[in-house]
Amino acid sequence: MIWYPYQQMKTMGAPYEIVDAEGVYLYTEDQKLIDSVSSWWSVIHGYKHPELNRAIIDQVNRFSHVMLGGLTHRPVQQLSQKLEEFLPGDLNHCFFSDSGSVAVEVALKMALQYYMNRGESQRTMILALEHAYHGDTFKTMEAGDDEDYHFVLNAYGPSPHVLHIPTQMEPLEQAFRQYHQRLNCFLVEPLLQGAGGMRMYDLAFLKRARELCDQYGVLLIFDEVATGFGRTGNRFVADLVLPDILVLGKALTGGYIGHAVTVAGQKVYEGFYDEDPNHALMHGPTFMGNALACAAALKSIELFETQDYMSKIHRIEEITSREMAGFSHPEVRQVRVMGGCVCVEVLDPAILRGYQQFAYRRGVFSRPFLNYMYAMVPYIITEAELIQVLDTMKAWFAR
Ligand SMILES: *Cc1c(COP(=O)(O)O)cnc(C)c1O
Repeated sequence: MIWYPYQQMKTMGAPYEIVDAEGVYLYTEDQKLIDSVSSWWSVIHGYKHPELNRAIIDQVNRFSHVMLGGLTHRPVQQLSQKLEEFLPGDLNHCFFSDSGSVAVEVALKMALQYYMNRGESQRTMILALEHAYHGDTFKTMEAGDDEDYHFVLNAYGPSPHVLHIPTQMEPLEQAFRQYHQRLNCFLVEPLLQGAGGMRMYDLAFLKRARELCDQYGVLLIFDEVATGFGRTGNRFVADLVLPDILVLGKALTGGYIGHAVTVAGQKVYEGFYDEDPNHALMHGPTFMGNALACAAALKSIELFETQDYMSKIHRIEEITSREMAGFSHPEVRQVRVMGGCVCVEVLDPAILRGYQQFAYRRGVFSRPFLNYMYAMVPYIITEAELIQVLDTMKAWFAR
């Protein structure tokens, strides 16, 4: 049997069985649903996209996978070259892996080893945000601040290697003042904290973080696994503030195949680049640089650029802001909109019980969590479809 994610198997309801999918729609045997979650925020071009399908089929007819240990191939070369042009600044060194969690692990390993290679062995501390989510593996759970993982705290106690701060200036300044000699990196989901509750914060915080990282020689890592490829209304938040290491996942392949990349800037790369074999980056996931994933990612980025996805995202933000303007309800704490993300935060999670079934009947797939009802739609959504999603959200409170 299947053991489903994040679910108490004893009490979970039957999941909806999907038999087909096309564009923004998921099909069950008896219903057609707009996927307002984009399959965990990844399916930015929608399902069954003819060009993405074609790119994968063409590659499958050559080969699906070869390892990167001692071998290389065109799709991975083209993708790393494309990312080099597409990403800002000197973010030019691409280390591929099979999921976002692993890519964050790689970023943390890079940052740690960067300082160990330099002999600065006191720099082991990770600065991270309260409510951070960076993945489900052990180090990412430790760097994250997710209540779901508090059993780890029970088992091991609080980590002496991670410091969590809120997205406010004073605690940021204070953390650097107090710990700068031990700080290794500052790991953040920039502007939008996804799984921690669709929390949005100000760019000024990141600008100041960049200054402090420069001042004290601390590496800045952006986990843009969720925010990358336009979700915040910026192509990448890294376009606005340049990190030393950038992590991308989720939408990288247009949601077709799990793949991720950890991209290092010049300074970080040079920290490994010398005669000493012990200074090499010791990591290598079996499926890194998978040829099908690379073919999908290349096509996905091409669509993103040639079909002006940024204007699609700005349109989604405009429509969403317009439709949600003036919406309020005694049970709603706050409505937040940023780029292709809208979140209705409620006061009590019990208020959202039954919403998924309600949305299903209205032709929308939604998966609220804790106090958060949200939508992160595929960017190809039409205005009418988007309004259907937003009307469904509002209608829940008007019952
Ligand atoms: C989803 C997510 C991850 C983990 O990615 P997986 O592919 O699920 O391992 C890491 N960081 C952020 C910000 C995410 O949203």
